[in-house]
Amino acid sequence: MGRSNRKDNPQRPPVYHAKKQFGQNFLRDEGIIAAIVDAIAPGDDATMVEIGPGLGALTEPVCDRISHLNVIEIDRDLAEKLRHHPFIREKLTIYETDALTFDFASLKTGKPLRIYGNLPYNISTPLLFHLLSFREQIADMHFMLQKEVVDRLTAAPGSKDYGRLTVMGQYAARMMPFLAVPPEAFVPSPKVDSAVIRIVPHQELPYPAEDEKLLNRIVTAAFSQRRKTIANSLSEFLQAGDFARLAIDAALRAENLSVEQYVRICNHVRQRDGS
Ligand code: SAM
Repeated sequence: MGRSNRKDNPQRPPVYHAKKQFGQNFLRDEGIIAAIVDAIAPGDDATMVEIGPGLGALTEPVCDRISHLNVIEIDRDLAEKLRHHPFIREKLTIYETDALTFDFASLKTGKPLRIYGNLPYNISTPLLFHLLSFREQIADMHFMLQKEVVDRLTAAPGSKDYGRLTVMGQYAARMMPFLAVPPEAFVPSPKVDSAVIRIVPHQELPYPAEDEKLLNRIVTAAFSQRRKTIANSLSEFLQAGDFARLAIDAALRAENLSVEQYVRICNHVRQRDGS
């Protein structure tokens, strides 16, 4: 399908009444849509997956470039529209379900898995954690997110945006922001700025944790009291002697510790407790 057909497609906004509970903000800026699709660079050498195709703003131009696309859409009205889409329906495998509980490993073929989407902002953080749990199967991801979430994913230690999402995200993947998107690029316009990020899961973890659940518990505890020193917030895990052995200053706050230091703490606790 060529771009001229797409513009004539009667399904494009604003004819559809967006459902707030599904975080629906439909992309309408053709320049931004083209920039995102160019950055994704979809190809038939990968198993491509779109989360939340909606009315097809990204789906259609991606389908211009590939012969098959998996899409996951929770809204049954939108899934139904896609099933009858005049130009791309034959290229789609539609999963009418919740991406938060979707088993992404089930899509694995011999090809690398590549995932993209303009994500519903109300579930973006739990969805990112869910996706990162499949990181070994995923080659890369491109997501439109709230700019604030992109800032958190890419934050450096010591900054106000540095938190649990930063540490657990950067533990698992490289985070590369590449496009700022204003509210006017969507119908309806969200109240916040947006940004697109490329997420490339580490093939080999730079700092492997011996127990990722324990790492998550430690990071969660540290940032649940981010104003306190880690001597306080991590007292469940570390005593004074542990800090000395780890060569980490107990007077630091959660936001001052690097990913490597969190992993070092995790592995120390694991080895000390012999669990
Ligand atoms: N991709 C379209 C675009 O860019 O115009 C729509 C993006 S809109 C921000 C988010 C899309 O995700 C909607 O189509 C919405 O119905 C869908 N969605 C919301 N929650 C979902 C979930 N839990 N699982 C799968 N899709 C979901």
